[in-house]
Amino acid sequence: MHNTFQTACPHCHTPSRFDAALPVEVLKCGTCGENLFTGKAIELTGATFAVHLAANEIPLVVDFWADWCAPCHAIASAIRKAVKDLEPHVRFAKVDTDEEQKLAGQSTIRGLPTLIVYTSGREVARHAGALSAEQLKTWIQQHA
Ligand SMILES: [Zn+2]
Repeated sequence: MHNTFQTACPHCHTPSRFDAALPVEVLKCGTCGENLFTGKAIELTGATFAVHLAANEIPLVVDFWADWCAPCHAIASAIRKAVKDLEPHVRFAKVDTDEEQKLAGQSTIRGLPTLIVYTSGREVARHAGALSAEQLKTWIQQHA
């Protein structure tokens, strides 16, 4: 039984299919050959956000953050732990809201950090404020 899903490559941003039963480190992009999962949140911009939103058949968790925001750094460390446990079943991404003000506006970001879970290209959950690594995992699993 194969359990294949589509995601978008963190390197070339092309949609690619993978077998979720395989170890994460063997999953390669069908276009550029790089690892499909890198153990980190992918940095998305106005140019790449829509591709990832449309391509992912796995839940996409996006962290809207800014460098000056102390709670954003705390949640970034919780995300680093969650990525290791949840890839390749969940895709993690982040958007620097200082660099990507238009994208933050389109996503109606009112406070930082804001985390949004998207499934099939639609927002299904949103959380504003800090979370511990355990709280983050529980919250994602409730919505993924
Ligand atoms: Zn690629």
